[in-house]
Amino acid sequence: MPRVGILAIQGDFLEHRTVLSGMGVDAPEVRLPRQLDDVDGLIIPGGESTTIAQLIDIYGFRPALKDKAAEGMPIWGTCAGMIVLASRLTDHRPEPLGLMDIVVTRNAFGRQVDSFETDVEIAGLAGLPYRAVFIRAPVVEEIGPGVSVLASLADGRPVAVRQGRLLATAFHPELTDDPRVHRLFVDVVEDAAQRSVKVD
Ligand code: GLN
Repeated sequence: MPRVGILAIQGDFLEHRTVLSGMGVDAPEVRLPRQLDDVDGLIIPGGESTTIAQLIDIYGFRPALKDKAAEGMPIWGTCAGMIVLASRLTDHRPEPLGLMDIVVTRNAFGRQVDSFETDVEIAGLAGLPYRAVFIRAPVVEEIGPGVSVLASLADGRPVAVRQGRLLATAFHPELTDDPRVHRLFVDVVEDAAQRSVKVD
């Protein structure tokens, strides 16, 4: 069983833990860069992206996360986590990690629709549409050639994207009781862990 770390410096990391624990997945909190060596994948949770990015730098996570991503560690960003993974933001802050070839707009839905829920079809998820919870959510404006769109809103704007082992969702699967997106990420982590065992 792979270990899926959760970046636990700000935001709703506990909710991710609860979902993963309910699935029987070991989900340690990652608070220091060296703890990245003990996990097979990482979730960057929702929260406040400017604060998360600031703390990433204060704790020295930036180079470690770049190294891990380059080595093929699966990373999933939800909401603020998506913002942090982006290559570029339409906003002038924070400075994203630049791990995924996506351009992201923060707070894309404005004040009127601060938070909302809607059904989305997510590629690779069997069964009913997924009830997605958006909270001051970002949206993907542009994607690079290696990025595939897993889900879009009715107006066509992408809200779930994947680039190799990197996943980003504008919504919060940790705030619903439907674990299918967590399962999708755990499958990516499991597959990556198995391949690295074979190569070694
Ligand atoms: N609006 C937040 C930001 O820009 C993200 C909101 C969230 O993660 N729920 O950081």
